[in-house]
Amino acid sequence: MKTFKSHIKDTFTSELPADPIAGSDRRQVEKACFSYVNPKLTKNPKLLHVSTEMLTNLGISEAESQSKEFLNVFTGNQVLPNTKPFAMCYGGHQFGNWAGQLGDGRAINLTEVNYKNQHWALQLKGAGETPYSRTADGLAVLRSSIREYLCSEAMFHLGIPTTRALSLSVTGDQVLRDVMYNGNSEYEEGAIVCRVAPSFLRFGSFEILAAREDTTTLKTLTDYTITHFYPELGAPSKETYLAFFKVVSERTLKMIIDWQRVGFVHGVMNTDNLSILGLTIDYGPYGWLEGFDFGWTPNTTDRQHKRYRYGNQPNIGLWNLYQLANALYPLIEDVESLQAILDEYKSDFETQSLQMMRSKIGLFQAEESDLKLIQDLEDVLHMMETDMTIAFRNLSKFEKDKPSNGLGIIQEAFYNPDALTDEIKTVWNNWFVKYADRLQKETLTDEERASKMNEVNPKYVLRNYMAQLAIDDAEKGDYALIDELFQLLKNPYSEQEASQKWFAKRPEWARNKVGCSMLSCSS
Ligand code: AMP
Ligand code: MG
Repeated sequence: MKTFKSHIKDTFTSELPADPIAGSDRRQVEKACFSYVNPKLTKNPKLLHVSTEMLTNLGISEAESQSKEFLNVFTGNQVLPNTKPFAMCYGGHQFGNWAGQLGDGRAINLTEVNYKNQHWALQLKGAGETPYSRTADGLAVLRSSIREYLCSEAMFHLGIPTTRALSLSVTGDQVLRDVMYNGNSEYEEGAIVCRVAPSFLRFGSFEILAAREDTTTLKTLTDYTITHFYPELGAPSKETYLAFFKVVSERTLKMIIDWQRVGFVHGVMNTDNLSILGLTIDYGPYGWLEGFDFGWTPNTTDRQHKRYRYGNQPNIGLWNLYQLANALYPLIEDVESLQAILDEYKSDFETQSLQMMRSKIGLFQAEESDLKLIQDLEDVLHMMETDMTIAFRNLSKFEKDKPSNGLGIIQEAFYNPDALTDEIKTVWNNWFVKYADRLQKETLTDEERASKMNEVNPKYVLRNYMAQLAIDDAEKGDYALIDELFQLLKNPYSEQEASQKWFAKRPEWARNKVGCSMLSCSS
């Protein structure tokens, strides 16, 4: 890994205040942003998959990725020369309540590299205990690691801001987990994902310092973040801090609008799981909408209140930004300006969400009646269980002069065709007539519109049951499906003749299966 190693230079993080104590003893870490700690040694590591694109991004050749050194470094058994692995301190609001210090409880940053003008931090998830592990073991299991590995790369190829993944390995160690939190603990295979991002800083990284009234470190961290990750904002000042909050707000909104577009439900939008760079981060009990349903959440821990349900994600983004505004307040001391930015989030959401939904149904001019047309579509999608991905993808086949063919196009998305009553049929047909009318005002031909719609409505997403099939196989030692899905999801908007079977509704066996429609935070 010659090139890679030569690009490990002065890492940005070393500019931040470090915890004077090293090692993994649990502790409250004050006046510091991170603690030095080495990954745990693993017993019998094996590399299951690498992302060739991430290899290229980091200057590692494919041959090098098959070396003993690569395996050892990315499973915790070898620390690269001139590097000092570390875990970061952060806090967070979990399910609406301040939880105090959280931190990288099982993520250990190996190092940072600068390659081709791009800065990357490399982090092992599941690499053992840190000062922030609280009562847990610092490890990760295979099922959740496969889910993170596949989904983060899939999101990237959907064009959605996200952390990336370099490698997926098993450790050869056993990890005890109680999947459904019902007292049935079992040993599972340990695994490690190497995740990669310009920075893993979260809203919670700032909140913890504000909560401790440590304005000095808060200022250091904010200046650092702006200097390295938002240099276009200029030298730190009150105005710059406000501009910083504004961009974070814009990026967060953009990310969430993208989630809404493809039906991604994060599942645990706690403030410690919101990236300061507006990246999708911490793939836990996330899920993809099957039936289009604003009320759906995959996370069983959230079953009661459904705080993080699909339709609530934009609101939660705003709620989390309020917490970030509070955290940055000591540096800005200007309530009105912060409030104005939060208000803009709300109005920008209305505009951008409408624009996004317009693009999903192929409207490229703006008409006042569009909002109503879109709401009517959302209503009819809720009338019976209708697959979101298939419905929107098939809608591109609609011909503006043949509204009566609409139902035939959409019905492939119905989970229970027998539930199609005359009433629902009429609602759909009325909608298709209005839609056809509206399309007459557009200038594009049916073909042109279809190809534009297919750029925003993916054909293939990582359906919950698809990830679970890959997990079931992997737990039996067969890793072929991991690669098949990985390759498929590199081109989510393209027709892939050989992969038509993945453009299908969730099979009935997966409806109520743990890992498919129901996921806990156990990972
Ligand atoms: P999450 O809900 O997965 O984002 O995690 C919340 C907090 O718990 C973070 O500080 C994690 O680092 C920590 N955490 C989650 N799982 C573990 C684990 N197995 N060992 C140690 N810390 C963990
Ligand atoms: Mg987290």
